[in-house]
Amino acid sequence: MTGMQAAYGFQLGAPNTRLERCDIPELTPKPDEVVVEVAGCGVCHTDVGFAYDGVPTRHPLPLILGHEISGRVVAAGEKAESWLGRAVIVPAVIPCGSCGACRAGRATICRQQFMPGNDGDGGFASHVLVPCRGLCAVSESLPKGLSLEMLSVVADAVTTPFEAIRRSGLGPEDVAVIVGAGGVGGFAVQIAAALGAAVAAIDIDQERLNLASQHGAGLVLNADANDLKAIKAAVRTFVKESGHKGIGLKIFETSGTTAGQTTAFGLLDHGAYLAVVGFTPRPVELRLANLMAFDATARGNWGCPPEQYPAALQLVLDGKVVISPYAELHPLEEAPALLEAVAKHALRRRVILQPDRNKAK
Ligand SMILES: [Zn+2]
Ligand SMILES: [Zn+2]
Repeated sequence: MTGMQAAYGFQLGAPNTRLERCDIPELTPKPDEVVVEVAGCGVCHTDVGFAYDGVPTRHPLPLILGHEISGRVVAAGEKAESWLGRAVIVPAVIPCGSCGACRAGRATICRQQFMPGNDGDGGFASHVLVPCRGLCAVSESLPKGLSLEMLSVVADAVTTPFEAIRRSGLGPEDVAVIVGAGGVGGFAVQIAAALGAAVAAIDIDQERLNLASQHGAGLVLNADANDLKAIKAAVRTFVKESGHKGIGLKIFETSGTTAGQTTAFGLLDHGAYLAVVGFTPRPVELRLANLMAFDATARGNWGCPPEQYPAALQLVLDGKVVISPYAELHPLEEAPALLEAVAKHALRRRVILQPDRNKAK
């Protein structure tokens, strides 16, 4: 394939080691596959889990990480030729489309799914090979202030909370509580507000909370300055004053921390719905019987089915979900240092890695 000689990426060679630059040999798509020239790839805490928290990748190491990809199709198999040249978002979880789970409408638990950077090489790279199934087409004329690389975060950080919120049935009468207003939670706040819900956001970072209150949160609470009792009281008052009459809080745990999970569970009220969106491999101690006592529901979701991507993307294109205050672009070359920084929670915004086109050619 032309122009592919110098394709490169950053791979994890072994757990608890720094990512290393590697050359990518020529990528040849099978009939239903495409090669995407990466425009941007978001860095997710799941990548940190693989690199530093003992979470095994399904494909053996070494592996190029990264599952939050946008880019342009530069090569396509014979059944995927209609995608050639098109701008796309690659879903973080690509189901097979034909197994029992897929046919039952539970595509996110498909056992034959492909997740870039987990089941095969991912998007911390100049190019990535993925199935064409489920690709989300992106218009060539984007609204001002948006770019294809910025839309990479739609692949996971926007769509995963979008799916959690969709499953919760959140509507204009509800009150949503977003625990963790960072890379994923900042989008959850905006999605919940776009659906008309009253939104409370909880975090330990005041700047994140300030941003949340500019973009949809009617109440922000600093969990460093307030204990659970104070948070509960403030949420109760907020519910009353909001006039929203939905039964039970709709709580979304997006921090992926044990502290956030403990707070989220502690907020359960009668008829509450708790969505676990963030990931941590660490356990928490909970009184699980509270689910029974409150007739409450707790649920997780592994990504978002591809058919929901256009609706999530539309919220971004309509300006109801803004990306730029929540993301920052960095050269792909900085991937090793940036993954370490994300692991230390040292960055406030979602990191998007951008390959250097001059070096890739
Ligand atoms: Zn992710
Ligand atoms: Zn399947």
